[in-house]
Amino acid sequence: MKLLRHICRLTVCVGLSFAMPLHAQDDETPTFPTGNAITPITGNLYRASNGAWHSIFLVTADGILLADPLNLDFSRWLKDELDARFDVPVRYVIYSHSHYDHAAGAAVFAETATIIGHEQVLVNMDGRYPHMPGDMIDRNDNGMVDRAEIEIPTNADPGICGMFPGWFDQIDLDGDGVVPPAELQVDIVAPDITYSERMTLVFGGKRIELMHPGKNHGDDMTVVLFPEERVVFATDMIADALVRDDIRSLPSACGPLDGTPIAEWIRSYEAVLDLDFDIFAGGHGAFFDKEEVAMPLAFLKDLHAAVQAGLADGLSLEQMQEQITLEEYSDWAYYERLRPKNIEAAYHNLVNYRY
Ligand SMILES: [Zn+2]
Ligand SMILES: [Zn+2]
Repeated sequence: MKLLRHICRLTVCVGLSFAMPLHAQDDETPTFPTGNAITPITGNLYRASNGAWHSIFLVTADGILLADPLNLDFSRWLKDELDARFDVPVRYVIYSHSHYDHAAGAAVFAETATIIGHEQVLVNMDGRYPHMPGDMIDRNDNGMVDRAEIEIPTNADPGICGMFPGWFDQIDLDGDGVVPPAELQVDIVAPDITYSERMTLVFGGKRIELMHPGKNHGDDMTVVLFPEERVVFATDMIADALVRDDIRSLPSACGPLDGTPIAEWIRSYEAVLDLDFDIFAGGHGAFFDKEEVAMPLAFLKDLHAAVQAGLADGLSLEQMQEQITLEEYSDWAYYERLRPKNIEAAYHNLVNYRY
């Protein structure tokens, strides 16, 4: 049983798709493609993917730089692929952020690689309840992940927030009914090097820029810019886990927007847009150009402005959900399902993070 749990745990990302048939009656239920693949982007830069989750790697004469190991299972597959295709080892692993579904698995590369993340990644690994995606927060404030803390958002927004049904039993490795942070993060290796705002890496004749854009989906985000390739990698921001081929998709908007101020979301999206790039190769979705990257920013700004105006006019949340139609975005994916939820998230965000 324990072994089975462990195997399931390794395939946590793929497993998300198992939940989908349960909610097949819903028109706007996301589906999660599966299947590992390596796709060339430009020059010696590649996307490696397990279907709906993507990482990125750059091959240089002195070694490979990889951003996001995703999970142990995927990293083991990727290492075999890299060993077979290239003569150089993975020298750097960068974390886009600390969430277990993007940052796990770096142990596979630890023998040859230096692991780098934003300084807040270490705070999220200090034994206290870490920042979690999908409105999975420490509701009873006991410092541990409880079953209800996963099931409440999972049941409230199937396929959008929380995780898939049954996920708690997969992360509860010892089966004792509670998951301390160390148990949740057992497959995440702490970074060897951290930075606070920006960092430049030069190796193998290449320059790679790391930028902390500010808080948004997480509080320990890193955006990776490959200046010569004119490619940017960012995860769960701009294109979240719901985005597929078209970036025009309403944000999942879990909790009060992942617990960080919407103004800071907007600033961090602007910081990415300010970078000099042609291709956005993010942790989810297809490759997008700069014009497309500007679209989720425009949505957030419009949502922010509309809800802020509603608050100033003394409207209730229910009135706002009726009156704020965000008509311009009516052809975006998840418009019907997530428009009221986005308004609710922005409302709670602005009430909670008033500054
Ligand atoms: Zn995340
Ligand atoms: Zn993600």
